[in-house]
Amino acid sequence: VPEDEDTHKEENIRCLTMLDHFGFECLPLQLVNKSIQQGFSFNILCVGETGIGKTTLIDTLFNINFKEHKSSHFHPNVGLKIQTYELQETNIQLKLTVVKTVGYGDQINKEASYQPIVDYLDAQFEAYLQEELKIKRSYVKYHDTRIHVCLYFIAPTGHSLKSLDLLTMKKIDSKVNIVPLIAKADTISKNDLQMFKSKIMSELADNGIQIYQIPEDDEASALVSVSGHLPFAVVGSMEEVKVGKRMVRGRQYPWGVLQVENESHCDFVKLRDLLLCTNMEDLKEQTHTRHYESYRSYRLKKMGFTDVGPDNQPISFQEIYEAKRKEFSEQCQREEEQLKQRFMQRVKEKEAAFKEAEKELQEKFEHLKRIQEEETVKLEEERRQLEEEIIDFYKTKAASESLQAQSGTNIKKD
Ligand code: GDP
Repeated sequence: VPEDEDTHKEENIRCLTMLDHFGFECLPLQLVNKSIQQGFSFNILCVGETGIGKTTLIDTLFNINFKEHKSSHFHPNVGLKIQTYELQETNIQLKLTVVKTVGYGDQINKEASYQPIVDYLDAQFEAYLQEELKIKRSYVKYHDTRIHVCLYFIAPTGHSLKSLDLLTMKKIDSKVNIVPLIAKADTISKNDLQMFKSKIMSELADNGIQIYQIPEDDEASALVSVSGHLPFAVVGSMEEVKVGKRMVRGRQYPWGVLQVENESHCDFVKLRDLLLCTNMEDLKEQTHTRHYESYRSYRLKKMGFTDVGPDNQPISFQEIYEAKRKEFSEQCQREEEQLKQRFMQRVKEKEAAFKEAEKELQEKFEHLKRIQEEETVKLEEERRQLEEEIIDFYKTKAASESLQAQSGTNIKKD
């Protein structure tokens, strides 16, 4: 088409602007509406020493004084405090669960500090797995308590990480997205802070600790190199301080005001954006596809399930189930056989013991019988002797009587 004709054609085209969405262009809207209807849920774990500023930071993040809320449940035994809140902003519902360590790092025994955290993370995965394995699943009603992010509070020492920090992070890095934070960052100077940040990052790398990887290609990452600010240096405060004509949340010092939401003062806004505006869905996705997945595969393998057989051929769930069932019934049969044999053995042993006892009894009886017979013979002999003695006695008596009678007659005659 010649160029001038083309231009002429374009001039005649009437362009109508669309008034509404139609066709599959509406698909994202369906998702948005459904999500709004269902509401959102988000679970945060705060790990850090007592008094490091966990509660204050959570209060500042959600702009609510949680301290005034009644705790919904409390687990002092495992050193974790769990609170669930139903929050609302415009028409968006958020079910927020905050789990905080209680007395973390206070124990001499380091294992006692991290083990309850590891156990808790596993327990949430296990609960989800059990729900998943049910025939009748109810994901809509089910409260998914798997932890989506762990805010790890590092003490603002300016030196290095403590061995407990490294130990705990190493133990949980395959179970949860760790976002390291330098707590109370207002207590450390700007230069020291930069050095402290790089020291922490190199220590984490040296120890092979995996922290949450902020997706760089995410278009919401106009935050561009937000990862470069890790660990976030945060300051928490619910206090309103006057700066110029505005009231801002901050911490008032004799030499000035530290504004919590001022990006040149601290990384609080970066953290809030990451958690609430840009990466909440990614954190949840990572929890499900990476951390839960590895827990699930570990558990299923432990139960004896596998995807491929010894010959590297895929095995179906049905095949494994059948094989397991066969193995189980064979094992039952083996155990039954063993039990039967053991029973027979015991019966034989008992029988032999009874026979032995019977033999002993018989011998005893024979012995007693012999004694008794001998006694009888002896008694018979004694009796016979006695009878003879009696006869002799009577004979002697009769003789003496007749002798007496004869002598009596002789006297009368005289
Ligand atoms: P938790 O035990 O870790 O929950 O600590 P809290 O949030 O109860 O805080 C303990 C104390 O530290 C409180 O007196 C807070 O006012 C103070 N605090 C909290 N966050 C900061 C902070 O960012 N900077 C400073 N300087 N103090 C803080």
